[in-house]
Amino acid sequence: MSHKVLIANRGEIALRALRACKELGIQTVSIYSEGDRNLKSLRFSDESVCIGPSDSKSSYLNVPAILSAADLTNADAIYPGYGFLAEDHAFAEQCSLSGFKFIGPHHETIKKMGDKITAKSIVTNYGIKCVPGFSDEIPEEKDELEKITKSIGYPIILKATAGGGGKGMKIVESIDQLSNALQIASKEAEANFGNGRIYIEKFIENPRHIEIQVVGDGKGNAIHLGTRDCSIQRRHQKLIEEAPALDVNQTKLDELLNCCVELCKDINYEGAGTLEFLYENEEFYFLEMNTRIQVEHPVTEMVTGFDIVKAQLRIALGLPLSLDQERIFIRGHAIECRINAEDSEKFIPNPGKITRMHIPGGFGIRYDSHIYNGYTVPPFYDSMLAKIITLADSRDSAISRMLMALDEFFIEGIKTTHQFHQKMLVDKTFTSNKHSINYLEKEFLKDGD
Ligand code: ADP
Repeated sequence: MSHKVLIANRGEIALRALRACKELGIQTVSIYSEGDRNLKSLRFSDESVCIGPSDSKSSYLNVPAILSAADLTNADAIYPGYGFLAEDHAFAEQCSLSGFKFIGPHHETIKKMGDKITAKSIVTNYGIKCVPGFSDEIPEEKDELEKITKSIGYPIILKATAGGGGKGMKIVESIDQLSNALQIASKEAEANFGNGRIYIEKFIENPRHIEIQVVGDGKGNAIHLGTRDCSIQRRHQKLIEEAPALDVNQTKLDELLNCCVELCKDINYEGAGTLEFLYENEEFYFLEMNTRIQVEHPVTEMVTGFDIVKAQLRIALGLPLSLDQERIFIRGHAIECRINAEDSEKFIPNPGKITRMHIPGGFGIRYDSHIYNGYTVPPFYDSMLAKIITLADSRDSAISRMLMALDEFFIEGIKTTHQFHQKMLVDKTFTSNKHSINYLEKEFLKDGD
């Protein structure tokens, strides 16, 4: 049976999905906003439909326009990618109700696991530890609230239940900052996410961010594809990711991997997903589950040889796929550097025209990107331009290979995070794998001042 997939995204992930569809002989429909007429993926797509003006609300978040495009082109499935509508359970439900297969988990699963508080209570039943905290309704009574935060222990972090992309978090160092911080956090959450609800977590001071990739077939079979370490972050957003995570307590990790797979089997998890953890003093603390593909999926693909995007398509479209844990092996080490249209010091967005560029290549180097010479980076969307990924037999060799790739790579016309990566990859704390999630902002940038 022939299939046609509408790719409800833009940029590198749209191109990534398009390539996977082509390999599987699936017809493709791309959507684009008025400001995205020059997207590379449009040239390779079988069909493309303009779905509205440049601002995301009128285009990539415009559900009626996307469903009309799917209808108009007779698509049978919709691939959401990451960001935009990828974790919107109402969109997933709307797709099904309109007769399109949503490529991802069932909308009820997105609703449960995509909600940070519900997800925490579910994973606890599988013996998975969460960051200590409080996620019930915040009491109005000051004394009661202070009692709760005291028992968690300062510093604490206030997080918006509807937050995402590293936004909507506020660290509170001591009790006297609490009521003020809570008011601001709630107002900001209301303004940014349309929901002012806040929950409280212990602020883990020097953890690493470690995550587990899972894939389920929606029929009770699930596997894991190992770990990633994403501890190099700025503003709680990742810049460098690696697979596998090194220097972790193997016994605890093995237990955790089993728990994650059991959970996915039990909930008939369908498609790709990631369980995110903070890791400190040999303990893993669950943060959240992302019920979609992640930006950093290539590092896992490189060390396992398992094509996650193709698996997502196969599972959703009922094409044959064997999910056999015994056949998954981790080989070598992979690193990904995100090249963003941001300056390398303060990470301020810098859209504009690329006047000249050169792409790296060679053995063990992968380059995932939608940009090209003469392309104008629009100011409306996420600043990520490219992902450079290297695979080698050890972490040291993957770093050396990345340095070589970064040396070949250049972009002119706009500022990017290119130089940041060149500096970080020779930094002693990074090369010795001693960094935590705070290292970049609290030490690395300060040292360079
Ligand atoms: P989002 O959905 O916005 O990405 P997450 O809960 O996944 O939010 O957290 C993103 C990042 O924020 C983490 O990788 C970590 O750097 C930081 N963070 C979140 N919760 C905590 C915590 N309790 N203690 C310390 N850092 C935290």
